[in-house]
Amino acid sequence: MTGTEAAPDRIELRGLTVRGNHGVFDFEKREGQDFVIDVTLHTSVERAAATDDLAETIHYGELAEEVAGIVENNTFDLIETLAERIADHCLSLCEHVEVVVHKPSAPIQRTFDDVRIRVERDRRTPAAASVGDSAATANSVHAAGGADDGETAAYLSLGANLGEAADTLDQAVAALDRHPDITVTARSSLFRTAPWGGVEQDDFLNLGVLVSTTLPALELLSVAQGIEVACGRTRELRWGPRTLDIDLIRFGDEEAELRSQTPRLTLPHPRAHERAFVLAPWAELVGDTLIDTPQGRRPISAVLADLDDQDISRITSG
Ligand code: ATP
Ligand code: CA
Ligand code: CA
Repeated sequence: MTGTEAAPDRIELRGLTVRGNHGVFDFEKREGQDFVIDVTLHTSVERAAATDDLAETIHYGELAEEVAGIVENNTFDLIETLAERIADHCLSLCEHVEVVVHKPSAPIQRTFDDVRIRVERDRRTPAAASVGDSAATANSVHAAGGADDGETAAYLSLGANLGEAADTLDQAVAALDRHPDITVTARSSLFRTAPWGGVEQDDFLNLGVLVSTTLPALELLSVAQGIEVACGRTRELRWGPRTLDIDLIRFGDEEAELRSQTPRLTLPHPRAHERAFVLAPWAELVGDTLIDTPQGRRPISAVLADLDDQDISRITSG
């Protein structure tokens, strides 16, 4: 499914037209406009051609849906960010990708044909090919959070409160585990929790997973965000209802965890210590561990004890 070294083959998706709400102006965010996406995946199609089996290649119908989901379910100021996010997602499918985002209706007071941003990204050398804060983060993560064998442990928190939430969480855990560079090593019980953040909505179902991965933290987050989109994530309000939310809470071990302070990736997760739905599944999986709080490093059991006013109950074993 992934490419071999320097595979000469390409899967090309051209002219995928999706309405989105990206742009620096309020009217662009409000009214939206068409964005046109071209994606080139560098991946060998040799096995698929030999076996005539769809399972051996990248399903371009699904790819188109996933890319459209990224355009529709986010609002970015810049098409640079949109292109980067699409490229990140595609790197979970192949090792090298080119993405062009066209904005043919960009607000420019002159006659023009097209405005486009082109990014080229490579899974093996993400930093060299990247720009901005994501490059610095992708570059530093392995050094800070990675173990000697290239495998890093990480804790992810998953939540859902729209649709068939329990099924969505099952699918999300399965999708993480199916990724060639991620193994789910432990899964917590399922917890039912009252919503957090003041928006009136249904209860959430939450769980946590420990994974072992060879990916840098930023790529792990990108894979998680791709799974959110693939599970049909929709969300209008911050901390409002959503089909699926996957947050990266810790990347690395208690003794050597990655710290990152960019908006794209903040680690450890800055609000984890306030949330019983993040900490209770974690404590179930690891027993006690020291976590960051505004009062310094504290045992998770003590932090959880302070959150006993939060409404959370274990509903099944994992
Ligand atoms: P919260 O972070 O309070 O749980 P949220 O999950 O609703 O809020 P999202 O809209 O899912 O927030 O994510 C907003 C942005 O946060 C994303 O663009 C993502 O890149 C960024 N982000 C930064 N650090 C992390 C992290 N550790 N885990 C997940 N997303 C993160
Ligand atoms: Ca969250
Ligand atoms: Ca999130």
